[in-house]
This record gives sequence, C-alpha cells and structure tokens, in this order.
Amino acid sequence: MNILQEFETIAAISTPLGTGGVGVIRISGEKSFEIALKITDRKTLPAGKICHGWILDDSVKIDEVVILPFKNPNSYTGEDVIEIQCHGGVNVVRNILDVVLKNGARIAERGEFTKRAFLNKKLDLSQAEAVDDLIHAKTSNFAIQSAKNLSGVLASKIIEIKGEIFETTSRIVAGIDFPEDVAEPEYSYLIERFTASLNEIDKILASAKSSDILRQGIKVAIVGRPNVGKSSLFNALLNLDRAIVTDIAGTTRDIIKENLDLGVAVTLIDTAGIREDENIDKVEEIGIEYSKQSAQEADLILFLYDANTGLTDEDNEIYEIIKDKTHIVVANKIDLVENFTEEIPNTARLSTYSKDGLDELKEKMRIFVCQISPEDTEYITNKRQQECLKRSREALQRALTAAQAEELQDMIYIDLKSALLALDEITGEVITDDILNNIFDHFCIGK
Ligand code: GDP
Repeated sequence: MNILQEFETIAAISTPLGTGGVGVIRISGEKSFEIALKITDRKTLPAGKICHGWILDDSVKIDEVVILPFKNPNSYTGEDVIEIQCHGGVNVVRNILDVVLKNGARIAERGEFTKRAFLNKKLDLSQAEAVDDLIHAKTSNFAIQSAKNLSGVLASKIIEIKGEIFETTSRIVAGIDFPEDVAEPEYSYLIERFTASLNEIDKILASAKSSDILRQGIKVAIVGRPNVGKSSLFNALLNLDRAIVTDIAGTTRDIIKENLDLGVAVTLIDTAGIREDENIDKVEEIGIEYSKQSAQEADLILFLYDANTGLTDEDNEIYEIIKDKTHIVVANKIDLVENFTEEIPNTARLSTYSKDGLDELKEKMRIFVCQISPEDTEYITNKRQQECLKRSREALQRALTAAQAEELQDMIYIDLKSALLALDEITGEVITDDILNNIFDHFCIGK
C-alpha cells in the first residue's frame, strides 16, 4: 500500500456474504460523509447519532437502512467512518457497495480498516493481531483469550517491561554522557534489573506452547485395525454422520478430518482406510503405515479394539507402534460383552451403539488436552511475537553477562537498545512495511 492510497476513502462489505438479518457496509476516509450524503435521502448525518434513511442510486431506492456516522478520531479506524446497516441479502449489500464505489470510494484491501486503525494509533500491533485471532478463533475459549489481548493485556505487559529496561538504559546513558555529574549505575544494580526483566519475558514465553496449542488446536487420531468401530466413534464424538460406517472392512479409504471443540480445538482424524481387499498382506502393511503416520502426527491417539474379540495379533502389532505416544486405549462394542476383562490397564469401555462410555471417554480426552495445554493462559502470543520476545531475551541475556563481567557500560547500552527494539516490534512502534503487510494480508476484506 503506498502513501497516496492511505488517504483514499475505502469501502467494503463487513459482514459475511450470505442471507441474514443485517448486512454492514463500512466506509472510511475523508470523503465518507460526503459519499453518504450523496447516496442517501438524508440532509445531515450527525456524528454519534443513529440515522435512518434510504440508499438511492440516482433516484432509484436500493434499501432502507440505518446509518452510523463516526467523526475522526472517534471511530474504529480513527478516520471519518460511515457504517451502513442494511437488509442482509447478498445482492442488496453488493448493490449498496456498488453505489458507494460509484460515488468516490475504492474497495478496501484485506485488513485495511484495522491497518488504518493501527496507523492512526487506535490500536497497537498486538491488539490489531488480536482482532484477527478473535475473528478466526476455532474455539470459544481461544476467542476469550484473544479478547484479553484486544483489551491490551499483552501490550500493557510489554510496555511495563520496556519501561523497566528504558529506565536502566537512561541511567547508563546519563553516566556515559555526563561522567562528571552522574555516576554510572552499580553493576549489582544492573544485574538485579536485567534479571528481573528476563524473568518477566520468560513468564510470557512460558505460555508460548499453550498459546500455539490454543491457536492451532491439537490432533487426535483414531487408530485400530479394520472394523473395530473407528468411523462409528468418529461420528459419535462429532455427533454426526461424517464417516461412512458399514460392516464391510475398508469402507473408509481416506483419512477423514473434522473439528471438535474440547476447550482446545481438536482435529479428529479417522484413519479407517487401512484395508485393501485384493491383497491381505498389503492391508497390514498399509494399516501399520497409517498407524505409524498417525502416531507421528497426532498429539493424542485413541487406540480402538473390539472388546468382543479381545486384543488380536494385529491389534497388538498396532498397539506396539503407538504405545509410546500419548494415547487412550478404548475397548469398543462393549454391548456385545457380558463380562469384560481389561487387557491393558486404564482401558476405556465404549459402545458406539448405545453411547455407553462416550461421555467418560470425552472426559478422559479433555484431561489429556488440559495436560498438554491449560485452558487459561496468562499471555496469548503468536509466532511473530514469540520471535521478538526471544530476540529481546537474547540481547538482555548478553547485557546481563556483560554486567556480571563488569564490562564497559557503553557496550551494555548497545544490547539494551537491541532488547528494546525487539519489544517495540511487538507493539508495532518499530516495524517494516513488509512485516506490516504480511500481518494485514491475512485479515478478511472489510475488517
Ligand atoms: P472401522 O472400520 O473401524 O471404521 O469400523 P466401523 O465404524 O465402520 O464399524 C464396523 C462395524 O462395527 C459396523 O458394522 C458397525 O456398525 C459395528 N460397530 C461399531 N461400533 C459398535 C458397537 O459399539 N457395538 C456393536 N455391536 N457394533 C459396533
């Protein structure tokens, strides 16, 4: 995006294209009010007031709408903004957008509204990234965690750490610049300050793994030999008929994936396609291959066997492959067994027919998921932010080592500056166009 474009007035449909109660068209920039007055039957559009009117294309009535006018800087983008709430049909929102574009706006790029909000200092970069997280959250839990960052939880923490490093840096600089008047800070003081800041950064980084899991979710694979009920379990967990279930072994030939919300987003993988009828040797080969692949990729494995037949050689062979990974052993078809004897400790009992044991299995899965990632994480960070934190940490660590060796404070100052710059990138005080464009290119149009 070049500088000239930034001052152009932009517009986009901000609600998903589909049939719904309401559709929203957003306009932002200098000409927003002028355009809105041209395309409506309103004589005025007082900022901060809810206005009712008609959208007109020349004199043709397009829709009856509610108009929300915002004067800069009191708007989402910090510019003059007009939001038009119309009836939520695909064609009506498109018609209104066309009229807006015909009258002087250009179509917004992905994330351009939020980018302008950032450039106009309505949000810092970590809050802008939280907007995207919130929109794309796969679970209600991650949405709540993202809202914390939107409210500035991460930004405040970064500002606090920066403040501490800055304070120490200022004292070093004063000692360097005015050696006659200001004494250099004691090395013991520097060691104490740097250690404290390192601890604070470590606290945020400690949540990095949980953040990644909350953001991306975990993979749970259902593994077992043909016909033990993998597809039936897949369907039962999702409460739908996604995978085809038959008593013909090998019905499901592809790996099927679906999402399940267990507080953390779970991608459930049905690996049922492990049989080829023509060549029984190849069956086992493929089955074992699938099991190996799943064992590698999955964070948790549900190892399923048929309680009615008990563990067969083939079951045992598959179990050998997955047993060192995080797994739950599930004995299915328990409805066919009168007196079940556990062959592997802590086996979950299940009947996908009667759903007996299904809630208990979900609870076991939830416990595993929570062990991998606690539901509540103090600080949610993304990879970019984690990289910045790591760079800042490395620079601070160098400063600490130098202070311990009582090296020249001029040298320590250079590392502190690097530590501060890396933190500035998180909030966006220092950022290149490339990084910025990369962040906002992932947004939706209209956000
Ligand atoms: P997969 O090949 O491992 O995916 O197994 P399916 O889910 O396709 O099931 C194989 C057969 O076992 C089908 O006929 C199912 O109806 C049957 N089945 C699955 N779960 C149960 C169960 O809990 N009890 C009984 N009695 N049969 C089941």
